[in-house]
Amino acid sequence: VIFRDLSCRGPAALLCVCVALVAAGLAQSALPAPFDLLIVNARIVDGSGGAGYTGDIGIRGGRIARIGRLAGSLAERIVDAGGRVAAPGFVDVHVHVEENLPADPDAENLVADGVTAIVSGNCGASDPHVGAWLGRLAQMGTAVNVGTLYGHNTARTQVMGNADRAPTRRELAEMESLVRLAMRDGALGFSTGLIYSPGTFAKPAEVAALARIAGESGGIYATHMRSENDRVFESIEESIAVARKARVPLQISHFKVTSQRLWGSSARMLARVEAARAAGVDVTLDEYPYTASSSGLEVLLPDWALEGGREGSRHALQRRLASRTTRRSIAREMYARLHGVLGRSSLSYAVVSAAPWNPALEGKTLRQISLASGGRRKPERKSGAALRADIETMLDVCAAGGASGHGPGACGTQMIYHSMDETDVERIFASPLTMVARDGGVTPLSAGNPHPRSFGTSARVLARFVRERHLVPLEEAVRKMTSLPAQRFGLQDRGLLREGFWADLLLFDPDEVEDLSTFEDPHHYSRGFDFVAVNGVVVREAGSPTCERPGKILYGPGFGRVTRRSGATSGKCLPPCAEDRRASRRWQ
Ligand SMILES: [Zn+2]
Repeated sequence: VIFRDLSCRGPAALLCVCVALVAAGLAQSALPAPFDLLIVNARIVDGSGGAGYTGDIGIRGGRIARIGRLAGSLAERIVDAGGRVAAPGFVDVHVHVEENLPADPDAENLVADGVTAIVSGNCGASDPHVGAWLGRLAQMGTAVNVGTLYGHNTARTQVMGNADRAPTRRELAEMESLVRLAMRDGALGFSTGLIYSPGTFAKPAEVAALARIAGESGGIYATHMRSENDRVFESIEESIAVARKARVPLQISHFKVTSQRLWGSSARMLARVEAARAAGVDVTLDEYPYTASSSGLEVLLPDWALEGGREGSRHALQRRLASRTTRRSIAREMYARLHGVLGRSSLSYAVVSAAPWNPALEGKTLRQISLASGGRRKPERKSGAALRADIETMLDVCAAGGASGHGPGACGTQMIYHSMDETDVERIFASPLTMVARDGGVTPLSAGNPHPRSFGTSARVLARFVRERHLVPLEEAVRKMTSLPAQRFGLQDRGLLREGFWADLLLFDPDEVEDLSTFEDPHHYSRGFDFVAVNGVVVREAGSPTCERPGKILYGPGFGRVTRRSGATSGKCLPPCAEDRRASRRWQ
């Protein structure tokens, strides 16, 4: 209800076109059937958070034509839901699919988990060419609808390499024009990854200048904050200050606290966000329903160790690790931070999830790897010895992974960090400001030891957080995965079961839904989302993919438009709705 005012963002002209389209949809629904697809006997949980009710859904031309008592209507195909829940398809606004979606456009792990729309380009990392990337996906076809943000690290790397300094005026102007171009090419907003290099080197003023450009086109600013750890409160302040300065809606990505010393702080963190909202800063949150994060091994290193200028952080880091003195200072700083600031006594919370250069390491903790290589280390009697040994192991792994030329990040190694408290995760989830987003990607049923979130996020929310823990009612959980993210990211006519909206929908039995992917045994799709439709086309049925690819591109509000700063305001038919119209014509 709080977000009703966001449901159709953008200038009045855009609103008019959208209203006209909805009206056209309604007029169409007054025509006699047949429907293309008729779902009868469903418990309709429409995504608004309102109580579910029994009814039928008639779909025509890719959109929901009628909702009501439609028994006896003609349809090309009738599906009896048998009292199962019909809900809008899940909208996941935080995925990383730059490479993995083009490689696997059927995205089965996502569809099997009920996802029908995704937003990529998060944490400061997007494809550098938003228009070309979206165009390529449109051409190949995808099972799910897809949009993207434009990444700060992507822009900064292009303009400044990996330099640890503020941009010159000229460099900043260059980055601004890259953001402007990305918004015109259809980005939904701008993202930062201020924990990753080169984002770590950027000051808030730079971020605000760039986020402002996205805001001018009606986009959102999504941030992976500078710290989710010991400096999480400062980072929340920074994010809010940037959004206020840039006058842009703010999304704090994967909201959490990972410092063991700050476990339990989520109540205060949420209070700070609510206070900012009360003071007029438009901020919302997302979260994945797990107590472990996943990131590169290099995030354990001090920022300066990754500074690389044009050379790139991977090579620069290799050079530093090869120097005994520099390696010693890196280790010393890591120890001071991990032990002194974060209160860690070992790296037993850090598990290797992908090391393509040495798969034998996958699934092992750094502590285990350290113990296994213990033969060449001194016995660990002194206090802090385990952590010191683990840091040496970490640096060995990083040096070897980096030198291999394979694998992600500067260390060629992806990790899972078991670093959160269940109570914090649950409290953040229950906030009405929080939507669900997996922070994962298109993941095959093989390779490595990936975080289960890519497979099981939506099912886990419904099975653990709703069915077992009763943290929120089913209807509210569905809202967190549908209308809330769709409205927040400006996805027109999606996220609700409403006449005139796109027919992205699922059938499931809330007593049967189960996330089967675990940390120990991650390679399992979720169970329970047997029937999934995207734009009215069935993409999953009876637990199997249909291999249809009806997904559409989710263009941002600035698509094809010249931004205000450049002088022109557009009052004519705008591309996102024009796209919709063209598509619906194709359907008729
Ligand atoms: Zn992130």
